Amino acid sequence: MSQIAELQLTPREAFEEAVFTDILYKKLGLSPDGELKIIPVKRSIDARGKNVVVRVQVEVVDLKEADRFKNHFIYRDVTHALQVVIVGAGPAGLFAALRLIEAGVKPIVLERGKDVQARRRDLAAINKHHTVNPESNYCFGEGGAGTYSDGKIYTRSKKRGDINRILEIMVAHGATQDILFDAHPHIGTNKLPKLVSALREKIIACGGEVHFNTKVTDLLLQDGEVQGVVLHSGERVKGESVILATGHSARDIYELLNRKKILIEAKPFALGVRVEHQQNLIDKIQYHCETDRGLYLPASSYSLVHQASVNGKDRGVFSFCMCPGGFIVPAATSPGEVVVNGMSPSRRDSQYANSGIVVAVEQNDFRTFSRYGALAGMYFQASVEQKACAIAGGTQVAPAQRLIDFTEGKISASLLDTSYQPGLASTDLKEVLPEFIYSGLKQGFKAFGEKMKGYFTNEAQVVGVESRTSSPVRIPRDRETLEHIQVKKLFPCAEGAGYAGGIVSAAMDGERCAEAVIKMYAKV
Ligand SMILES: Cc1cc2nc3c(=O)[nH]c(=O)nc-3n(C[C@H](O)[C@H](O)[C@H](O)COP(=O)(O)OP(=O)(O)OC[C@H]3O[C@@H](n4cnc5c(N)ncnc54)[C@H](O)[C@@H]3O)c2cc1C
Repeated sequence: MSQIAELQLTPREAFEEAVFTDILYKKLGLSPDGELKIIPVKRSIDARGKNVVVRVQVEVVDLKEADRFKNHFIYRDVTHALQVVIVGAGPAGLFAALRLIEAGVKPIVLERGKDVQARRRDLAAINKHHTVNPESNYCFGEGGAGTYSDGKIYTRSKKRGDINRILEIMVAHGATQDILFDAHPHIGTNKLPKLVSALREKIIACGGEVHFNTKVTDLLLQDGEVQGVVLHSGERVKGESVILATGHSARDIYELLNRKKILIEAKPFALGVRVEHQQNLIDKIQYHCETDRGLYLPASSYSLVHQASVNGKDRGVFSFCMCPGGFIVPAATSPGEVVVNGMSPSRRDSQYANSGIVVAVEQNDFRTFSRYGALAGMYFQASVEQKACAIAGGTQVAPAQRLIDFTEGKISASLLDTSYQPGLASTDLKEVLPEFIYSGLKQGFKAFGEKMKGYFTNEAQVVGVESRTSSPVRIPRDRETLEHIQVKKLFPCAEGAGYAGGIVSAAMDGERCAEAVIKMYAKV
């Protein structure tokens, strides 16, 4: 028997770790040592009223039943088992590997980048010396694009069971319990590397393999079936199946598939800029506080959307991957391009709030690149990134403009301090962005200023370009069951295939692909 209860707490009661659990028992008149156990199910901030409150939903269960709320994971010894190749050690690749191990299949994970520790040095080189290593950067390396991120782990997917599984695997490998009930959970870039290496260690402890500095450059195909992959060293790695989980920035993989005449399609994505405000300003707007958010409330976030009208056509403009208390980071994967993204530490305690603000890009928008066929969107995306680099001086310095100056088409006389380490150059971003993007952003920012009073200010600045929002290419497959795949035993997976966006949905798709592999062998 279980019972649901709703509680309203103050920020201190809800967010001071030492107080939270005790207060739940006290408010419900129960004892932590009694027969009934309280399991928090959801914790969300309600900032609609003058005083911010925190709503907590809990489930009160019999102690004997408490275990049924947990997923149980049994990882098997797969040292001598059937072998499946996974290309990419991002969330999709790592969760696919663990799911295979649960089913008794041996994963061989091949990752072009370095392990989390070694990768840090390459990130420092981008930030300090503007040197982009095309194999090890903010997108490539152990843990994939999600390792040095904000680690937001919520998703629009409605599959609660599948989401809980992913979050519980994360908790089993070191993430804190609160990700299981926070309405908008996040882990933080300081904690993600440890979690990612714990996942890798589990794979290896079970007899799976994880190889870094191991770029896949070709597929071994025979009679319409994949038999393995070829590495940059020329070595061949055979597997019963191949899960291709290479993410949205592996342009060479899209080129390879195109050359091999494996069907790929251009797909819509989004492109724009990142906007940076003082976190304190966003807190004042969101929490209606006069000075600051106080000791207990987390740095506030926002989610904005506007329907702009560009050349007589509706265009979605929306905030993307907002990072409260975070940093803007250089996310290019090659020299000669500037790409920005965002990350936050677990405490989200930097003085800055940044968010991608992007405009929907449809296939018709990159028709001038149609000579590239299915890769038209990818080349369009690259051309904007290269322009951003060239205009700001050819390094990782990013083009920037104060927010109102941006909408008025004025080069800013001076820029604000920023969290973006490689530095900013005052530039007219209109020269970097395609006209429809600029126009959409201009309208969007003004509309966001109406929704959040104080947001539209020259005390904020925009930084270009936010271009790696989702994949510009899809590798068609049947989305859910993967019963229809083009090349036998080749499973296009997650964000790079166009079937996920974000850490959790990529992890879920990794599991889905692993299950398709398992099902295929169960049939044999
Ligand atoms: C800075 C930043 C911040 C982000 N913040 C968030 C966030 O807060 N929350 C969120 O949900 N999402 C965030 N994202 C997006 C998220 O990281 C991705 O959606 C997710 O990582 C996609 O997972 P994936 O496994 O499909 O691909 P990826 O994570 O891209 O992993 C693909 C892996 O494949 C490897 N690879 C590519 N080509 C080859 C090859 N030829 N041979 C071998 N290996 C190869 C790459 O090196 C990479 O490690 C962020 C992304 C960035 C860049």
